[in-house]
Amino acid sequence: METNWSNAHFDTMLIHAGQAPDPVSGALTTPIYQTSTFCFDSVQDGSDKFCAAKPGYVYTRAGNPTTRALETKLAAIEGGEDCVVTSSGIGAIGAILVAFLKTGDHIVCDDTLYGGTSFVMHTNLSQLGIEVTFVDACDLSALEAAITPKTKLIYMETPTNPTMKIIDLEAVAAIGKKHSIRTVVDNTFAPPPIQFPLSHGIDLVVHSVTKYLNGHGDVIGGAIIGKAADISLISSSAVQKLCGCTPSPFNSYLVLRGMKTLSLRLKKHCENAMEIARYLEANPAVETVYYPGLESHPGHELAKKQMNGVFTGIMAFELKDNINGRSAYEAGQELVNNLKLILIAVSLGDPDTIIQHPASMTHSCVPKEEREALGITDGLIRLSVGIENAADLIADFEQSFARL
Ligand code: PLP
Repeated sequence: METNWSNAHFDTMLIHAGQAPDPVSGALTTPIYQTSTFCFDSVQDGSDKFCAAKPGYVYTRAGNPTTRALETKLAAIEGGEDCVVTSSGIGAIGAILVAFLKTGDHIVCDDTLYGGTSFVMHTNLSQLGIEVTFVDACDLSALEAAITPKTKLIYMETPTNPTMKIIDLEAVAAIGKKHSIRTVVDNTFAPPPIQFPLSHGIDLVVHSVTKYLNGHGDVIGGAIIGKAADISLISSSAVQKLCGCTPSPFNSYLVLRGMKTLSLRLKKHCENAMEIARYLEANPAVETVYYPGLESHPGHELAKKQMNGVFTGIMAFELKDNINGRSAYEAGQELVNNLKLILIAVSLGDPDTIIQHPASMTHSCVPKEEREALGITDGLIRLSVGIENAADLIADFEQSFARL
């Protein structure tokens, strides 16, 4: 694959990496190779391609030209040697775990993870006899102390959901290297050009492509980027075999299309989010705003260094208790229900601004004490800021706050 993008600027890579004109038709846009299988010239040709003695495609679960174009682009923008794309973000995470862990192994995870990942770590891994230790990875001594001779992976997200905790990627990578343990970072919340975990020494980056990378809210997808040998192992043993979580060529095409505007979109997401975070911070009904772009956020200085001076489009905020006699829980529900432009939905990174009240939606089945231990308090609201005009979004908040 073409990896020599070191002299190109980021925005140029976004457009051109992985996308040469189609050799058959000259089509500028990568065609959708919507086929499950590929024909061979002869039995010998088939044999050569199956044994990788000759390049070529054999079956879409094992590789497809549209998907390969996307993998090339993703590897280039993250600065990795190679990439494998999957049918979902959770499929990518599962593939990493299946590729590198076996019964009796141990993994250290940050204690704040996306809910689906948390379920995998808490439930699926223990079913397989793999031990997990959860630590606050901001506490580097606690992280290092959790390592045992059986530890095979260190896994985390930064920023984390919902309090936007910032973890020091360079320090975590150094601990991993010192103990010869692979480090894995879910970079969904802050994709390039915001954050480049591999450049800090992290071994593997995983994405829910569903979010900013596709950026249009119409695809579920995932990706893993890292060293060629690691990606080859994950791809051949986990993605193509046990998990079988290969994407459809059509979805790969949509993500290729979406990624061309990644820089432009993220710039607007981040600008809007900064404006809204400042508006919310000054709002008397708001107790706390969790956004690393604010000087009041405990991770602000590290985020400035690690996130390229911008702070993503996601934030959470906490409402005060007893707003005109309402509990924080009631106020959270009302504030969200009374918004007109901003839509109630989960997910993030869409062009549309979306909001949710975790205590009564995503975490409604989790006992109160348990969810509060995760930082999901009654008045917490999660917001993914879109690329609309910020003044219209603030006006929508204004009319909804006025009704409390
Ligand atoms: N990682 C993070 C940080 C997420 O927020 C999500 C989904 O919301 C996932 C992984 C899972 O990705 P997917 O929904 O594409 O499987």
